[in-house]
Amino acid sequence: MSGDRLLPDEWQRGPRYGGAYTFARCPASRDLSLADVAIVGVPMDMAVLYRAGARFGPRGIRDASGQLRPHGWEPDALEAPFDKLRVVDYGDLDVFPGYIEQTMDHLTSEFKRIVGAGVIPVVLGGDHATSLPVLRALAERHGKMSLVHFDAHPDFWPGPPGRPYHHGTTFRIAVEEGLIDPAASVQIGIRGSLSANLIEEARAAGFHLLTASEFAARGVSGTLEDIGRIARAPVYVSLDIDCVDPAYAPGTGTPEVAGLTSREIVDLVRGLPAASVVGFDVVEVAPAYDQAEITALLAANLVYEFLLVLAAGRERLSRVSHKS
Ligand code: MN
Ligand code: MN
Repeated sequence: MSGDRLLPDEWQRGPRYGGAYTFARCPASRDLSLADVAIVGVPMDMAVLYRAGARFGPRGIRDASGQLRPHGWEPDALEAPFDKLRVVDYGDLDVFPGYIEQTMDHLTSEFKRIVGAGVIPVVLGGDHATSLPVLRALAERHGKMSLVHFDAHPDFWPGPPGRPYHHGTTFRIAVEEGLIDPAASVQIGIRGSLSANLIEEARAAGFHLLTASEFAARGVSGTLEDIGRIARAPVYVSLDIDCVDPAYAPGTGTPEVAGLTSREIVDLVRGLPAASVVGFDVVEVAPAYDQAEITALLAANLVYEFLLVLAAGRERLSRVSHKS
């Protein structure tokens, strides 16, 4: 550590596949006074309806993130998010397998601590129920948010009475609790054997919903125009890796064919409205179904791209002394 900045020096010696398994080999720390951004893992998959395994998502993404280069820690190298943002790996939050209500309450209070310190949470799920405690914590600080939601599924199903939580009810609950404003929210990549009713319900609630076919017709730039027009600050970005085609992201619990390419999702994340984003998650990475780490590597790179979005427009940090 040097001055007010946790330097990665101690973590960055040796080859990229060695050392501590933090995200992109960022320093492991829970000192929020030293962070602009906290990478937070939520190893939870008790809300899935089909294949379990997203509890290993944070671990898989961190492993794959070893391949990310710390460019920019050198003074004249390519720009990297770490030149402008103090990024710590906060580690994983506690979850209580089998006890989802208690887990959701615990996660909410933990995220309130992070958000309350003025730190931007970048969350590695976990199944898509992971997003709900993050939204609850962020809404307490920022009020009602716009949601930019990449997913094969609208996650707008109603839960059965008395049992609200599964990974497909997240944004229905978020709307009911007033955490997000559907009229200022966009859903992208919806497809598969969904009932037309569900899509109509999401649209009737106000969401600007682009099915995967509509996205294919609209293209990346048209979709970014839509996001720019509809979303307004504060914006939360939730990225279910199953928005991507299983050819590019097989390691997930509920794959749906004919989705986005990895190229398209990278370009979409790159084009997010930089100034207004208050949080990000990538969820539903289930390494047991992955092949050659391609899903986890994509997720790690999407987090990196998101960090670049957050870094845009910020000044370079003054004390950068890393040598790799
Ligand atoms: Mn989802
Ligand atoms: Mn999904």
